[in-house]
Amino acid sequence: MIIKPKVRGFICITAHPQGCAANVASQIGYVKSKGLLDAMPRRVLVIGASTGYGLASRIVAAFAGNAGTIGVFFEKPPEEGRTGSAGWYNSAAFEAEAHAAGLYARSVNGDAFSDTIKRQVIDRIKADLGQVDAVIYSLASPRRTDPRNGETYKSVLKPIGASYTAKTVDTDKGIVSDITIEPATDLEIRETTAVMGGEDWEMWIDALAAAGVLAPGATTVSYSYIGPKVTWAIYRNGTIGRAKENLEAAAASIAHKLAPLGGRAYVSINKALVTQASSAIPVVPLYISALYRLMKEKGIHEGCIEQIQRLFAQRLCNGASPQLDVEGRIRIDDLEMRPDIQEAVEKIWPAVTTENLESLTDIAGYRKEFLRLFGFGLEGVDYEAETNPVVPAGFGGG
Ligand code: NAD
Repeated sequence: MIIKPKVRGFICITAHPQGCAANVASQIGYVKSKGLLDAMPRRVLVIGASTGYGLASRIVAAFAGNAGTIGVFFEKPPEEGRTGSAGWYNSAAFEAEAHAAGLYARSVNGDAFSDTIKRQVIDRIKADLGQVDAVIYSLASPRRTDPRNGETYKSVLKPIGASYTAKTVDTDKGIVSDITIEPATDLEIRETTAVMGGEDWEMWIDALAAAGVLAPGATTVSYSYIGPKVTWAIYRNGTIGRAKENLEAAAASIAHKLAPLGGRAYVSINKALVTQASSAIPVVPLYISALYRLMKEKGIHEGCIEQIQRLFAQRLCNGASPQLDVEGRIRIDDLEMRPDIQEAVEKIWPAVTTENLESLTDIAGYRKEFLRLFGFGLEGVDYEAETNPVVPAGFGGG
């Protein structure tokens, strides 16, 4: 079939296998260009390993540290005449590249929130690696089924306390307009925290520790976001921010549990980037478009792979120290939060309209990045060619 992007709102329902492979290859190329890092973990479990920050973490672990990796994700396999999801193709491509480089790489496709997948992963670690030295927790999901009671919680992106009106952009149509979002109910706040907070991260660490598969000195890292004032009402002070506070608190509790093993637990505050998760948040894509323009102009723009390479090279390994902020978090959002960048965002923000969107922001770059997430717009890929969506991979349908 000829595979073209089919964008529906903030998701693209098709993905290009060769395009996704080219995207993975380019991230691997970047990591290799930076060279091997010292004191890297050798056996790494990445939960949420197929796209965005998790995929970048898996690539850095493997190609900057020669680590054996186990990746967990929830992705749709391809069928005759129907493409799989981008994360499925990314993971197939990652495994092929890792194996070609002589590295151990296995993946488990299924619901990471479930006990079944936790057990499968523990069995895989026991059989193949014995233990893991690092656990990267990078899930972003709209819902979670609690394995203890079978209840399904839904995550919402809403302000807390009062309704909120702000500028947003329809990235597809290029229309800038005001959006008003009603505040979340208490139940919505609790459910969003149950999905995107730290409970499942802690359940993973408890399960891994109980099974004896965490190596002495094991480190675990999860990702969070703070961002600037223009996004606070919907992000940091909204339902997702409440969940992130819970995640950050879980780091302290996990660190306490890992202390007897000599282990460590961190939350890293990362930069706002175009991913499948962030494109679903109102207001944020417009902020990202403005941010990209300003950071590119100053030559300090980074994508997921540059962020995570720097996280390992300058905060976690390689002789570096985590350089924690007063709340005990790693900050790799330092360039995004630089005062000159944020002052410039604040200047642009009130001025952006549908008419000047293209000139004031990097909406073009945003759209390009968005399509690249699904394997479209990569150099060297023939998008007019007949393409078989079915690609062999060593993991199942979930
Ligand atoms: P993403 O959508 O690219 O990746 C999400 C990953 O989670 C995928 O691998 C997906 O398969 C997996 N996943 C989702 N539900 C699952 C389930 N039930 N079982 C197993 N796997 C499942 O998201 P992302 O933007 O890379 O986000 C990862 C983390 O980084 C999140 O905690 C997010 O809040 C954080 N973060 C993102 C940004 C940003 O701007 N994108 C900034 C800072 C922090």
